[in-house]
Amino acid sequence: MRSVTINPAKICQPIGAMYALFGVHAAVPLVHGSQGCSAYPMRMFNRHFGEPVQVAVSSLGEDASVFGGKKNLVESIKNVIARRHPELIGVITTCLSETIGDDIDGIISEGNYEDSKVVPIHTPSYVGSHVTGYDNALKALVTNLSEESEPANAKLNILPGMVNPGDVMEIKQMLDSMNISYTILSDISETLNAPIILPKPPFPRGGSSVAEIEDCANARGVIALCEHAGGSAAVYLKGKYGMAADTICPIGVANTDRFLDAVCDMTGAEIPYSLEQGRGRLIDAMVDVHMKTCGKRAAIFADPDIALALAEFVTELGMEPVIVSSSTASRKFLQKAKSVTDGEILNGRDLYELQRAVKDNEVDILFGNTKCTPIAKDEDAAFVRCGFPVFDRVGYHRYGFMGYHGGVYLTDLITNAILEWGERG
Ligand code: SF4
Repeated sequence: MRSVTINPAKICQPIGAMYALFGVHAAVPLVHGSQGCSAYPMRMFNRHFGEPVQVAVSSLGEDASVFGGKKNLVESIKNVIARRHPELIGVITTCLSETIGDDIDGIISEGNYEDSKVVPIHTPSYVGSHVTGYDNALKALVTNLSEESEPANAKLNILPGMVNPGDVMEIKQMLDSMNISYTILSDISETLNAPIILPKPPFPRGGSSVAEIEDCANARGVIALCEHAGGSAAVYLKGKYGMAADTICPIGVANTDRFLDAVCDMTGAEIPYSLEQGRGRLIDAMVDVHMKTCGKRAAIFADPDIALALAEFVTELGMEPVIVSSSTASRKFLQKAKSVTDGEILNGRDLYELQRAVKDNEVDILFGNTKCTPIAKDEDAAFVRCGFPVFDRVGYHRYGFMGYHGGVYLTDLITNAILEWGERG
């Protein structure tokens, strides 16, 4: 195995933490690091979501790198509170602040923050990836904010992971149709797909409120849709408050069925006819295109849980997942991938390795983010854009792959990509 990265596939931890905080209402991510650690992620968010995002930074320079960043951090928190009056500040560490060893938990505990909550989030980017950063952020939010109280709220906590606003909307619509009360943690469905309604509010509408995060301790259960991005928070909630917990990524027929079964088990709800209709429509869409999809050799590059669920879905479509790949190295991913493919598994590898595998495995169709576009072109494969970031086409964040309705959208995307590829001759 190579010990050098040639074409990097993973993104840094703080980006995952910012992703989680953008789904909390009136929250400000405060990056404790150098300016570049906030500037490049903001650009990536702008390009993927087409939304302005605001990230504060403690602007560590040479002095702070040598003598410590306490002064910068204290000043930054004061500035953010004075200018934005946020409900929550998530202090996100970086390679630099973790390396110099700033005790951000200690520094934060010394302050008085009026009505704002300040939560330390550790995201040293020399380990893990954006997925780890999201997971760490969500765990930090529930660990620092959740509070047991009486009576229990009978809600369900849903931890969607690093998915698109469209995915969160699909999940919400399914739960609404079952009359279930729930808390989405964190909820980017409006904050990163915001309507323009004047006057413009100081923070985007929507998102999980701090009160909802506090109250998530009193829910009857928790379901993490992406085990690697939210699973730690689910384990914490289960361990600390004894609530039921499950992990299911509802992409495809079987996985969506399993998700709804888990929801029914935890809440006693029943599946309404509208969801049966949605399931039937997805199966109809799959049957309609099976002659196009059957036998196609697919390479999937995505975050671990999404990659596994996509591999299962393409198998439902009669395709063969010959490569299942994720940039986030994980033993769990490796283990589970063995059960969804007999092909090649790339665990924590770069895009150079992915391209080599695509070439060797005679792939017909590639799934991946914008960084995979050149690979699909070079290797003459059909291409389905998925994951983060996608910025060479517009609108991807608006639609979800999750749920039955998302499955229909995904089936159409896959089939149209195959048709276009076939027309190329
Ligand atoms: S220095 Fe570390 S935290 Fe900052 S942008 Fe680079 S990888 Fe991310």
